[in-house]
Amino acid sequence: MAKHKGVEPAPGGQHGQQHFEFFGPHGTAALLVALPLTVLALPWACNERGCLKLLPKPWVPGFAPGQPLYTHAALAAAAGWFALVLALHVLLPGARARGVALPDGSRLTYKLNAFPVFLLTYGAALALGNFGLGAIDLAWAADNFLPLTTAAIALSSALAVAVYAASFLPDPSTRGRRLLSAHGASGYLAYDFWMGRELNPRWLGGALDVKEFCELYPGMIGWALLNLAFAAAQARDHGRVGAGMLLVNAFQLWYVADGLANERAILTTMDITTDGFGFMLAFGDLAWVPFTFTTQARFLASHPQPLGAAGVAAVLAVQATGYLIFRGANGQKDAFRRDPSHPSVSHLESMPTARGTRLITSGWWGAARHINYLGDWIMGFAWCMPTGLAGAAAVVPFFYCIYFAALLAHRERRDEAACRAKYGADWERYCRIVPWRIIPRVY
Ligand code: NDP
Repeated sequence: MAKHKGVEPAPGGQHGQQHFEFFGPHGTAALLVALPLTVLALPWACNERGCLKLLPKPWVPGFAPGQPLYTHAALAAAAGWFALVLALHVLLPGARARGVALPDGSRLTYKLNAFPVFLLTYGAALALGNFGLGAIDLAWAADNFLPLTTAAIALSSALAVAVYAASFLPDPSTRGRRLLSAHGASGYLAYDFWMGRELNPRWLGGALDVKEFCELYPGMIGWALLNLAFAAAQARDHGRVGAGMLLVNAFQLWYVADGLANERAILTTMDITTDGFGFMLAFGDLAWVPFTFTTQARFLASHPQPLGAAGVAAVLAVQATGYLIFRGANGQKDAFRRDPSHPSVSHLESMPTARGTRLITSGWWGAARHINYLGDWIMGFAWCMPTGLAGAAAVVPFFYCIYFAALLAHRERRDEAACRAKYGADWERYCRIVPWRIIPRVY
């Protein structure tokens, strides 16, 4: 690997010495093109003029959306949103928390104020927008969804280029030192650009952790706001906000608020501790999340579906089931990791490991090794149900369910590989006790 002053080389760098993820350099090169095209293809396959259906015809050619692909106004709006949230994060007070020990032994301190930033921005949109004073027309974002999508792709790509280029330079805020990601410094351009060369890029003299900020602030809050924009558009064009739109908005708002209120929990996830900040996360956080996760609300804005009392009850039941598993499993592991003798988890069976930590082998974690993913997916299914219960048979609004199943299956494999490396023979023993990956007795 070429030597760069102040840049800490990653273990196993240079061509061919490491285990590749995402099908290696060729796979990541393909993803760099395919994923932005997928985000742009969704408004073609499903928009106010029509939506791809499986039945009665298996394939219908794309419908040209009634919006331009690019406008200066949309680019300015997307850049302005990013700048506003960034300014609020930097200027508002926030709690401080230390992250886990990094490969070089250091620990970073993070400023946490995602929830207040969310309350302020979402609250302002509610108060000043179409459902409040009416001073701001939220439906503008729905009417400009396609150029906003293009703008988000352009801005996130530019950010990925900037952090990639900066990763070769000394960082003045850390006396020149930069810690590279173990998986993002292979020497293959497309692979490193996708995975992220630098582990935790920091800007503004170290005051801004770019990765943690992008993971939770502009994209997640933007997702909730775009949903609100589609509710405003539905009210304008169809006279009211239907039950399906209300449910989709409420469920996803809850998911976003829950994630932001528990900001500290992200500091131990593989995104923060292991993955570099490259195109995968920059594009994923700023373009993919807000512009594909809003597909259901976008569909309902122009194609409201009658749900009825039974439909509402069915959607609520599925959501409640998913939430019970998701929260139950994540809460059980979280409580156990903090204090295994706590009364809420002391009854659980667990096995000791040479690494020192114990692995739970009963309760939720005895049912499947990633039962939490199952709960998360079931909730995602409940978010799609309001778009199809009336027999619309449209495929695109179910995009989230299909994509999320693939993401969780892939993520489970990644975590499995990481746990195998962490726990060695103990993990093999755990797998014999809990043989199912995600769905008990099925997978
Ligand atoms: P998980 O919460 O699934 O945690 C995995 C880690 O838990 C392992 O690495 C291991 O770490 C520990 N662990 C595994 N098995 C056991 C056990 N039996 N007993 C105790 N500890 C165990 O990690 P994720 O970050 O993948 O997921 C967190 C949540 O985020 C999930 O609910 C997931 O669905 C959600 N998510 C949502 C996404 C979205 O786009 N909506 C994307 C990705 C995740 P160790 O032993 O070192 O503690």
